[in-house]
Amino acid sequence: MTTAHTILVTGGAGYIGSHTVRLLASMGRKIVVLDNMVYGHEEAIVDPAVTLVPGDIGDHSLLRSLFREHGFSAVVHFAAYAYVGESVTDPLKYYRNNTAAPLALLEVMQEFGCKQFVFSSTCATYGIPAVIPITEQTPQHPINPYGRSKLMLEWILADCDTAWGLRSACLRYFNASGCSADGMIGEDHNPETHLIPRVLMALTGEAGALEVFGTDYPTPDGTCIRDYIHVEDLASAHARALDHLEAGGDSLRANLGTGVGISVKEIIAAVEKVTGLTVPVVYGPRRAGDPAQLVADPSLAWESLQWRAGKTDIFETVRSAWTWMTGPRKGRYRS
Ligand code: UDP
Repeated sequence: MTTAHTILVTGGAGYIGSHTVRLLASMGRKIVVLDNMVYGHEEAIVDPAVTLVPGDIGDHSLLRSLFREHGFSAVVHFAAYAYVGESVTDPLKYYRNNTAAPLALLEVMQEFGCKQFVFSSTCATYGIPAVIPITEQTPQHPINPYGRSKLMLEWILADCDTAWGLRSACLRYFNASGCSADGMIGEDHNPETHLIPRVLMALTGEAGALEVFGTDYPTPDGTCIRDYIHVEDLASAHARALDHLEAGGDSLRANLGTGVGISVKEIIAAVEKVTGLTVPVVYGPRRAGDPAQLVADPSLAWESLQWRAGKTDIFETVRSAWTWMTGPRKGRYRS
């Protein structure tokens, strides 16, 4: 049976994917999630109308049968590995999964005439920017295989646009954070390396003291500055990007951030204010490859998608992450 306007979401059982799937499903969109379940969680798909297919984005025959059955009008592509450190020690894993495997997806899209693609890209494609805030014109010089694996797919998408009219929206996320306000879905990485959950885990006892990576950066308090964008804002940007492509809009690349930089020490202070607890902290050396500052200029996303971050209160973002960590699921889909 062919159903018009069904959307294929790859990696939809992961952190950002699952929040986007939940939003799109609540908007009445028909969704099939394809996820290899290496990092995805079945429980992160909360809408019963969403179909979850365990499988690989590099599997031509599976893709063909899904396209035949559902007649997808667009693909939203999240499926990727995203540990920067691991990408340095095991680059081929990243180039295979993040760059090579999507070729099968694109080949099958071309075969079936599906020409709309929303891509989960990253500010890691910029590397260490000379100027802050980062615009889409900032040169892209990624400094690790993860960033390069994503940038190469951006290039491939541009070439497919030229060759066969694939229209894509490359959404370059800054630091995804927070979770659904009701605590139903959230961030469950194993291992968890991201700052906000690490700070919260230092409070719940799931991890030891929070190690601050570097206090000698050229920033006002010496710690790194990042742009923390709420995951539900990222989800709404994907909905806007789909609308844009479905309305016949051209390919675009857009930064998704708040435009506001927050330091590691400020995040710790925000956590202490929200929880009323004192975070155990140790100060360590810099982590290799961390730029001092990464802050988006998100104005192009407003101009091209009429999207801007709505959940810009870092205390609310931290509160939502704390709700997830301390709620019924205790920050984990499986105990
Ligand atoms: N960070 C830290 N301790 C941690 C985890 C992260 O000091 O345990 C710092 C990290 O050096 C960076 C910021 O927090 O400056 C955000 O790191 P995260 O890994 O969350 O995201 P990234 O910016 O690396 O994508």
